[in-house]
Amino acid sequence: MELPLVDGIEPAPHTTSARKTATPARSVYVETYGCQMNVADSETVTSILGNAGFHLVGTPEEADIILINTCAVRENAEERVIGRASQLNGLRRARPDLTLGILGCMAQHLATSLPTRAPWVDLVAGPDSYARLPELLAQTADEALLDTRLSRSENYIGIDPQRQRDSTNAWVTIIRGCDKFCTFCIVPYVRGRERSLPAEEILRQVQTLATEGFREVTLLGQTVNSYNDGVTNFASLLRRVAAVDGIERVRFTSPYPVDFTDDVIAAMAETEQVCASLHLPVQSGSEAQLAAMRRGYTVARYRALVSELRATIPDLALTTDIITGFCGETDQDFQQTFDLMQELRFDSAFMFKYSERSGTHAARAMPDDIPEAVKKERLQRVIELQEEISRQINADAVGSQVEVLVQGESKRRAKDGSVTYYGRTPQNKVTVFPQPVPANRIISVAIDRTTSHTLFGSVVPPE
Ligand code: SF4
Repeated sequence: MELPLVDGIEPAPHTTSARKTATPARSVYVETYGCQMNVADSETVTSILGNAGFHLVGTPEEADIILINTCAVRENAEERVIGRASQLNGLRRARPDLTLGILGCMAQHLATSLPTRAPWVDLVAGPDSYARLPELLAQTADEALLDTRLSRSENYIGIDPQRQRDSTNAWVTIIRGCDKFCTFCIVPYVRGRERSLPAEEILRQVQTLATEGFREVTLLGQTVNSYNDGVTNFASLLRRVAAVDGIERVRFTSPYPVDFTDDVIAAMAETEQVCASLHLPVQSGSEAQLAAMRRGYTVARYRALVSELRATIPDLALTTDIITGFCGETDQDFQQTFDLMQELRFDSAFMFKYSERSGTHAARAMPDDIPEAVKKERLQRVIELQEEISRQINADAVGSQVEVLVQGESKRRAKDGSVTYYGRTPQNKVTVFPQPVPANRIISVAIDRTTSHTLFGSVVPPE
């Protein structure tokens, strides 16, 4: 399918009311919405701007330039971002020289309508335009700009994303774009075609991260296991990343079920550093719905993959994505999803009701025919089911000891109001404990209580 390539840098059909001086503004505030790919992209943006002499600030009030990195996957996210941009535009009253830019998937998705909906925006730049940001920002002194060219090759090679200091996990993008074109999804249109970073570049980044003290990395991609740079496939990459000195935990997200090979399962099972946790989106338990979504697999194939994964990696925690109320979903289709969730007992799930995204195949050719109330009711049923399954699975952890990579102070207070701390198990379960332990340590925690989302316990002193 052809991608809707938008011509390159061009003046947007608007000018800002507040004229800026030609003096380059240098302090930048970046606000991020959406998935981990967007978080990782913001880290790339801040690195590019940092290298060009801009400095990052922590609040919009301090900034000469405000960039909102956005998400197009859900419509309400777009509305929220436009609302937020409008609110930030109010800062111009005190700062007439302020530059306001919208980056990322939504910028790409709404390239033509955004200048009308938000005419005060100075810069609209898509996910493949970040290397040009310093130059674009310099030009916004004269005119508002739109740069939403999609690239077949942009991988930001050689740029070390500026990682969040408060995280013990580093996100490493290994593949950009998506070629799958599921009928409901806007991602291939806004992020362009699949392209893998060279393995040597990924290993260079991971080695740098290990030197900086990161013990955990998460390899990122829209279809992360489709990775192949022409020499190295995903299984080989997993093994090579896990072998980097100092890296003790390797995660990856999100894999595409069709591209999950036996070799990847073997690499996960054989490689101690690769965590026993997997987010494997199923979306529906109905064959008809999977076909309508053009997911490329059957329920039987997904079920077989889960069986093989669980047989090979017995302590695997499995999570998934579920959509309710996609085009044409009958009561029977929905029941099949409900039944599959009961059968496979995911550790947790991201569950959504379908919302049509303009520009997708579904929006063009498939009636969004499930009443909102039905979508909501089905969503509520799967949420309640999953909550109960998650509660039961976590309850089994009571009495066990888990290995936790400490992340820091928890937002939860103990019953007596005292501070608690938290980290994650290899299965990615959030674990809360009362003893203060510095971040980035790996400790044992004895679990004495659980909820559907969290394990609670006490630190086991080392022997
Ligand atoms: S695999 Fe499908 S759902 Fe995932 S990003 Fe690609 S098109 Fe979207």
